[in-house]
Amino acid sequence: MIPAAGSSDVRVRFAPSPTGMFHVGGARSALFNWAVAKQQGGTFVLRVEDTDAARNKPEWVDGILNALAALGMHAEDPTFEGPYFQSQNVEKHREASARLYEAGRAYYCDCTRDDVAARTGNAHSGYDGFCRDRGLTYAPGRALRFRTPDDGETQVVDLIRGNPTFPNSAMEDFVVARGDGSPVFLLANVVDDLGEGITHVIRGEEHLPNTPKQQLLWEALGAQPPTWAHLPVIVNEKRQKLSKRRDKVALEDYLAEGYLPDAMVNYLMLLGWAPGNDEEILPFDELVERFRIEDVNSASAFFDVKKLLSFNGEYIRKMSVEDFVAAVDPWLHAPKAPWTEEQYDAAAFGRVAPLAQSRVALLADITDNVDFLFLDEPVDDERSWAKAMKDGAAELLADARAALADLATWEAEPLKDLVTAVGEKHGLKLGKAQAPVRVAVTGRTIGLPLFESLEVLGRERTLARVDAALAKL
Ligand code: GLU
Repeated sequence: MIPAAGSSDVRVRFAPSPTGMFHVGGARSALFNWAVAKQQGGTFVLRVEDTDAARNKPEWVDGILNALAALGMHAEDPTFEGPYFQSQNVEKHREASARLYEAGRAYYCDCTRDDVAARTGNAHSGYDGFCRDRGLTYAPGRALRFRTPDDGETQVVDLIRGNPTFPNSAMEDFVVARGDGSPVFLLANVVDDLGEGITHVIRGEEHLPNTPKQQLLWEALGAQPPTWAHLPVIVNEKRQKLSKRRDKVALEDYLAEGYLPDAMVNYLMLLGWAPGNDEEILPFDELVERFRIEDVNSASAFFDVKKLLSFNGEYIRKMSVEDFVAAVDPWLHAPKAPWTEEQYDAAAFGRVAPLAQSRVALLADITDNVDFLFLDEPVDDERSWAKAMKDGAAELLADARAALADLATWEAEPLKDLVTAVGEKHGLKLGKAQAPVRVAVTGRTIGLPLFESLEVLGRERTLARVDAALAKL
């Protein structure tokens, strides 16, 4: 049983920066947080980290909200809190930096990168602590740096990675506020988590290097740091980190192609975690019950598009026919479909819908599977033609044409018997014999079961297409 929302103190958050299309990795982070919140009867906070005004756009914020909602994480759900916007907390960030300064935990610094490089002889070295004890006060252009402890170590409690320990001496005095007084990500992110009462920070592994610094900030601000969990990076088939330049990463693109939200959710939940017993396709409630953040793997997770596609096919087959017809509807009309409203015939589609449902893996595939029903002429696919219209195809089609014209009952069974008999006459098994008929009528070598297709297409159009193919041969 999943406990009621808000019945525990667990507060997790998803904190995306609206700087682009919503990444599948972000969706995975959001879902893992959502699963923990649901499972624990806790709260899922959405905080949009929109302080980088130059890179943020309002449409990306809408994109995030819509994508989360499509995956079931929406503001009407009692587990959901927010969205909050980081830009509305800027005063709090400034107050926190002032507190750090007043408590002596941070100091102002006027060093440029070149100054530091000249002193250390290394353009890439960390900050050398030059201003630590200079007692500078604020002036425009002076950054505020956190005074990291000289010795000791910082251990973070990470539910996925053991409890990694970072020597404090290896941490430079990092900047918490820029020369114009504006706080940097490290601080703003902590101040918001603290203010929102976050108990568990579950986020991507790329933030692990920030974590000891952020933990020091929590402590310096007088608060108990959260429990952390850093999720494994997601990689492509070449084991490269998924990147928007190389890979298809936008959740919106997957949904637009006809991946079903439920299939996406199920697949994303398995990026770094497995429910056990070799069971993979499970309803979300069950995934939530079985999910253990401690069991998430620290090794990188392979985003296997083929596997996602096969999940999608399975989810398509689980739908009722009515739901399937509703789901593919956008692909049955312009601009996605290549036929017009006049050419489209909903009743004919209804007849083949169950056949199509059992074979498409992607909703978008529906168009190619049924276009023979609505286009005036079958698609012209040279490769299919070359493959099916070999020697003897013309004779076979001519015989089939004559028999089709005389067939008493235009139904799938007799149509199959007819093509079987014509094939036998030409020494061909049904599989070979039906190929020229299929290409003549649909333009393609693969598609829905042929005889049901012919039944729905009707005698007149079938004969016209076979005639056209014979003329071409
Ligand atoms: N805004 C940060 C990002 O999108 C989130 C960091 C975090 O989750 O703490 O990477």
